Amino acid sequence: MSDPVVDLLSFIDRSPTPYHAVAESARRLEAAGYQALSEDEVWDLEPGDQRYLVRHEGSLIAFQIGAVSPANGGFRIVGAHTDSPNLRIKPRPDIDADGYRQLGVEPYGGSLLHTWLDRDLSLAGRVTLRGEPEPHTLLIDFARPILRIPNLAIHLQRELNKKGLKLNAQQHMAPIFGLGEIPPLRELLVSELHVQNQIEVDASDVLAFDLMTYDVQPSVVSGLRGEFIHAARLDNLASCHAGLTALIGAGSATLPQYTRVVALYDHEEVGSRSAQGAASPLLAGALERSICAFEGGEPQGLERALSRSTLISVDMAHAVHPNYADRHEPQHRPVVGRGPVIKTNANQSYASDAQTAGLFAGLCSPLGIEPQHFVSRSDLGCGSTIGPITAARVGVRTVDVGNPMLSMHSCREMAGTADVEPMIDVLRSFLGG
Ligand code: ZN
Repeated sequence: MSDPVVDLLSFIDRSPTPYHAVAESARRLEAAGYQALSEDEVWDLEPGDQRYLVRHEGSLIAFQIGAVSPANGGFRIVGAHTDSPNLRIKPRPDIDADGYRQLGVEPYGGSLLHTWLDRDLSLAGRVTLRGEPEPHTLLIDFARPILRIPNLAIHLQRELNKKGLKLNAQQHMAPIFGLGEIPPLRELLVSELHVQNQIEVDASDVLAFDLMTYDVQPSVVSGLRGEFIHAARLDNLASCHAGLTALIGAGSATLPQYTRVVALYDHEEVGSRSAQGAASPLLAGALERSICAFEGGEPQGLERALSRSTLISVDMAHAVHPNYADRHEPQHRPVVGRGPVIKTNANQSYASDAQTAGLFAGLCSPLGIEPQHFVSRSDLGCGSTIGPITAARVGVRTVDVGNPMLSMHSCREMAGTADVEPMIDVLRSFLGG
């Protein structure tokens, strides 16, 4: 395997949107021998089969059937999410103002809005085109800096550094992308699709799009001794990468009894309620179908399987920030570079409990890894993850873990190089092989 840090940086750079993350994940799975399953076909599966399915281009489930039916072997599942906060283009985006061309955007998820200012932004996503017999959707990525949301000069807001920056999402976040007469975005999409896919379509053939901004600056290793990673979308592509790499690395030489699963969901940053999010029947349905597809099915298979199954929900964790250390619970201050973090919340914003946290710590020990712990301050709210949502939807015992990071939900985040491999190792030992 190539260096896992270098590989993570390339995974992130190839994945500016959830759709691209799923396409890149599918590419890696296919290279490792996994075959695509279609949701609209009857599945037929045997021990050792490596399959993946994609729903609505934003979510992906990959699995390898174990040596026995999942009803008898259970599932070991790693879950993560493919989406990240960003700015999404509105359906009627073209704005002319004071000689500039701008695009109307709507923040997606809990963005740190100010981090999108003065950055070299591009546009990526998917475009649905008129077609026979049905419309079809293509991925698109402009892959060059075409947008910018400029800061206002200090001279025009003298009190800024004392009073703090207040951004109105409607008024202050529209990126500039040109001067004077510019064709509408739909026409630009058509010419970009022509360049990227050699297809000839008309602007009137663009029926709809899901487009979002991203920073074109490539991911880098940074810090005096290469301690850090600076990249976009570490939350949560770093965990998608860890889960996928562990699954692919688990190989097929030794087949465990249990079925290995990796579930990568869209829409975590907006609450997971969608047809392909963690609150959807996607995973439960796929698990049930994998049982039915096995030697004619098994009576009460799903319930029997789930009673011996575990989910590790992997999402990035808040490392202590040296300039804001008081925002952390004094006894629970994870540090970048010191390995995986177990996240606990008594009110079930994280799904970890004694059994599942113990299981994760038990996986760490033989690898010489001492897990860190995160608990929110009791007087501060707690974020959540796909962990408790999937646990409730599927009924599977779950632990919430993740690697420590800073600048979470920034346009450009920060994590530790030394944390990449240990998480992959723990997940690989969970999945077996
Ligand atoms: Zn996340």
